[in-house]
This record gives sequence, C-alpha cells and structure tokens, in this order.
Amino acid sequence: MFAYKVKIYGIVQGVGFRPTLSRLFKHYRGWVRNSSCCVEIYLETATKIDINDLILKNKPKNAIIENIHIDCYKIKKFGYNKLIIKYSLEEDTKNITIGPDLGICKNCEKELFDSSNRRFLHPLITCTDCGPRFSIAKDGLFDRKNTTMSAFKMCSFCASEFSDSKKRRFHAQTISCNQCGPRYFYIKDKIVELKDIEAIKQAANDLENSKVGLLKGIGGYHLVCNALDNMAVKKIKLIKHREEKPFAIIVRNINIAKQFVYLSRDEVNIIKSQIKPIILARSKGNNLKYVNQNSPFTGIMLPYAPIHLLLFYLSNLDAIVATSANLSEFSLAYKDIDALNFSGVDFVLLHNRKIIRPVEDSIVHFSSNKQLIYRYARGYAPLPFYQKNIKPNILALGADMKNNIAITLKNTVILSQYTPDLTNYDNYEQFIKKVNDFLSFFGIESVDLAICDRHPNYLSSNYARQTFSNVLEVQHHKAHFASVLMENNYNDDCIGIVLDGTGFGDDGNMWGGEFFVKKNHSIERIGHIKYMKMYFGEKAIKEPYRVAASYMYSITNDIEYVEYLFPQYKNVIKIMPKVDFVITSSAGRLFDAVSALINIKHKNAYEAQSAMYLEYEARKHKSSKILDYEIDNFIIDFSKTLIQIAKRRDLMCAKLFHNTFSQAIFENTIWLKSDV
Ligand SMILES: [Zn+2]
Ligand SMILES: [Zn+2]
Repeated sequence: MFAYKVKIYGIVQGVGFRPTLSRLFKHYRGWVRNSSCCVEIYLETATKIDINDLILKNKPKNAIIENIHIDCYKIKKFGYNKLIIKYSLEEDTKNITIGPDLGICKNCEKELFDSSNRRFLHPLITCTDCGPRFSIAKDGLFDRKNTTMSAFKMCSFCASEFSDSKKRRFHAQTISCNQCGPRYFYIKDKIVELKDIEAIKQAANDLENSKVGLLKGIGGYHLVCNALDNMAVKKIKLIKHREEKPFAIIVRNINIAKQFVYLSRDEVNIIKSQIKPIILARSKGNNLKYVNQNSPFTGIMLPYAPIHLLLFYLSNLDAIVATSANLSEFSLAYKDIDALNFSGVDFVLLHNRKIIRPVEDSIVHFSSNKQLIYRYARGYAPLPFYQKNIKPNILALGADMKNNIAITLKNTVILSQYTPDLTNYDNYEQFIKKVNDFLSFFGIESVDLAICDRHPNYLSSNYARQTFSNVLEVQHHKAHFASVLMENNYNDDCIGIVLDGTGFGDDGNMWGGEFFVKKNHSIERIGHIKYMKMYFGEKAIKEPYRVAASYMYSITNDIEYVEYLFPQYKNVIKIMPKVDFVITSSAGRLFDAVSALINIKHKNAYEAQSAMYLEYEARKHKSSKILDYEIDNFIIDFSKTLIQIAKRRDLMCAKLFHNTFSQAIFENTIWLKSDV
C-alpha cells in the first residue's frame, strides 16, 4: 500500500481544483484541501499510480499549474475509508493561488436561459469555472467565508449541490440561486422601485427608451445606454465631461460584433474567451460613428456577466455603451453609495454583493497579429508571471499616468490591476489603497526593496521615497524596456527602442525617443531622437500647437516665422524667447508637433488625441515617399522633416511623416546593430 502527499502550486483556488481532485480520486482514500500556498492532496492507494500525469491531464480548465510536489511512501494500513474534502488551512508561507474574475462560462449561460433550471434568469449565476474571484476575495484563500459571498447563506438546495461530488457546483465557493443569492435592485432617485427580474426588465426597457443608467457588474459600475441611440450617447458624454473620447461597447453576441468590426481569428478567440476583454478592433461601417468619434477602431466586448446577457435577452438592443462609471480620468466607481450619489443618470441597477476592490475592463489590441494588452485589469490581474531566480518581497510602484504595481513572491511576479492618472487625488488614494491591499492580500509583512520611477515629482515615486526605507529609482524608459524583456522572457543581450510621451531622463531632460543596449544586467542609452526645446511645460502636452511652435522655434530660431505659422496664437508664441523651456527627445511630442503643423489637432481633449488623429489621417493616404532626416552618432534629427512639413502643411504629410519616422527608427537600429 502506498500514500501520496501532493502539493499543487499555481492558480489552483477558485477554479474548482478540490472538487476536480475529489472526483478524479473518488475511488481512493484520503483528503483534499486548500492551503494558503497551494492545493494539497493526501491519497492512499493499493498500487502505485502516476499521480502527476493524472492531475495534469484532468486539471480544471482555468487552473494554471506552476509546480506539483509529490512525496510517495509505503504504508501498512489505510488510515481513511474514503476521500474527503477538508477545510482550508492557513499556513505561514502564503503564495498566490487565486486567479482573476472570469466571464460567464458556457454551462452557466445555458442554465441561465433554461426555463426548467432553478437558476433560470439568475443574474448572478456562477460555478467553479466562472464568476468573480479577485474582486470579491478578502484574502488569497478562496473560501466562501473569505469572500463577500459570505453574506449570503446557502439555501438547502445550493447547500446540497455544494456537498455533492456529482454536481458541477460541488464546492463552488460562489454558489447561489434565485432563492439565496445576491439580488438586483432598480433604483430611481435613491428609492428602490423594483427587485430581481422585474428590476432588470425595467432597466432593459429604459435603455431601449434613450435612458442612461449605472450598472453594477463584476468589478465596478458601468455607465450604460443604447450605443445606437445618439441622444443617449450624448447624455453619457455630458455626464463624463467627455465630448471627444470614444466609448467601449458590449454587443449581444459574436455575430453582432462582426457587423460592427473586423475580427481576425485570434481576436475572435480572445473576445470569446472567459477573459472577455475590450478588443480594440477596426470598425466596419458607420453605425457607431457617434460612439467612436474619429477613431477607426471600436472598443468592443461580449457580455461577460450574466446581467449583460439578461439585458439583451429582455430587450431588442444589439449594442450597449459600457464605459467605466466615473468622470473622465477618475477611477472606477465600485461602491454602492457612490453609485447612488452619482448625478445625471436615469436609473441605477445594482446588486447587493459587495465589491472589495475595483477592477476595470482590460483592453487588448492586435498589431500585426500580435496581441498587446493596453490595459491590464479584469480577466488578467492578479495572474502570476512565473520567473526563475526572483527575489521575494520587491515592490515596484509603476508610473503616474497609467498605474500598475507589481510585487515579487517566490518565483512569481504579480502585476496589479490598473489605476488611471494619479495626479487626480481620488486616483492617488486608490493607488495607496491598492498598494496596501496587495501587500496584505499576498501576505507580505515587509518590503525588502521598493522600486519607483526616477521622476522627482511623480506621486508614486514620492510615496515610495516617504514610505519605504530601501528604494531603488529606475529611469522611466529603461523600466519600459525591462518590462518588455520580462513579458517576453528574454534574457539575452539586445537593443531596446522605447518610443513614448515623456519621462524623466538620467541627464535631467525629458526623454521619450530612446535607443538602449542591454548588455549582461545593465541597460545603456546609446542613441535618441535629437533634443528639441519645449516651452510652456505641461500645457504644451495638452495643447500640441505649443509643441509645434516650440519645435519650429527650436529649429529656426525665428519667432516671426513661428507667428506666421500660427497667427491665431501670436500672443502666446511671442513670449517664447523670454520664458523657460525643457529639453526633450520625446517621440510623442514629435507626433503632436506634426499633428498641429498640418492643422489636424491644435488642442487635445484627452491624452494622446493629436497623435492618434495623425495616425488616423495617415491611414487614409497611400504613399511610400520619405521626407528628409539626418542621423549622426545614433541621434536622429527630424528638423528637416519638420521644415518640409511646415512648408507643405497638407494632410498627406500625416502619411509621409509616419513613413519618415519609421524609416529613421529602422535605419538607426541597423546602425546600432552593426556597432554593438
Ligand atoms: Zn459557470
Ligand atoms: Zn440557493
């Protein structure tokens, strides 16, 4: 007789691992339990078995196994007469074992619309394969009592399913039904008017009638309206103070998605997966013009929470605007009290399952068939990046604009969910909360090393300097380069090109168009886009004509010529010779300058708008022509390019500039490669 003691590490909690193991080994004796580092199994067998192989072949679909540790020894007699599931054990060494929130699975979707099923139309239907995880967990041990589902006592039916190994909700920690689960409420002017399915029916009806609502989903609130109803979309624009930025939409199903956007096979796979991110896909037709503004892309996702499916089921809607409920650049509203006090909406549709931490929708874009995650949040965070030779308890605090933090545990790096611009105080508070939450969630009592941006004024950096004793400051673009290396698990020496807005450089200037060489463990800056003078500080980033004026003055030293280029801003431009400037190698600012020079955008309504509009314009033209530029000692000088563009100022310049820019970057890389 043999006994096996097995520890399975990775994303093994909240994914139905214990029930899977207990079904798999139901003819054996012993026990299965969660601990704070892994899932453990103790098995007694008459003959030897290949337990590693059995586990790998039968693992639950959303589990990610990092490592399986097996001890096998001989025993004289059996200690158990069957296999049991034990309660979770809290140990000293915590390890990440919980995964991200998961979109509704196929089985739950089927039950949701099966009138003979007792969870028919249950708006919070979940199982071991789907539902909220990270957003409702109090700590890394995913047992019902450690989640906000602990407020809901299981009814006798759910309780019997929970303990029946033959049922698919055996040990499903989020189990609930229409009788015992969380409920939806339709609220108008802070008064509950309807409950349950009647509440959802009313909201669906409202959306069909140009109303705008707040909808509580998995990780926070969305502002919602009919995406094809311009009046309703206009209301959301006014509420969000966001006249020009596009909104993401949820569509009824994949066939409707294909009516609005072009989707490659890879895009279909990811949009249909349980991650269910927003896909930034190329728009088809003009139906969503008002939602997308000038963007040729549509941010589109499929229903990921049962409530989304129900709203489509109870209406004739095909597409619903679903944008984070906040004012522009504020963090996501996730507390019910904030939703009830939100002004401007016609109704609030909320459920009474508490969200512990806000998790925004992730955004994915495919460029040349390669998947890029633009925003890392729901469906991804807090998935681990397993790495060898990682020192534990390092906390990286990210940057201010789009903040993600990361921590290292043994063999793992965990990247947090995203928080928008920290210069907004609400977001900064959210950031501090996120840091503390992460440290306690993953059981880190003391941070051995905190890493922050070298920027002297970043709030995230100042927080690190004030809070932690051991702080390492890293240059912004070197950090960008290093994170790409880690994401791709690339350790060899290589060249890194970082094209960005601005970041504080090692020489005190604003960097942003950088060529690095990584040798062994160090990153050295070898080349860059030639420095230009930029006047007007932060204001120039919001008003790109100021960048264009700065650059043209930097190149020509002729203020009258710059005034001639932008006569409408003469009063601003004429002070340039008398005021301070910074020096920058930014790639983003160069795009801003061109965009303003050819009169595409003089002022931005949101971050990077002018550069995006320049790209959209370039897509409309066909030409492979290249303008002049110079390269000297790995420094690319676009002065001649800008002078040529300033002479022409036609929209074709958008295309020519893109051609010139990519050619220059390519050429400099080739020079660099032949040199190192
Ligand atoms: Zn499910
Ligand atoms: Zn129930």
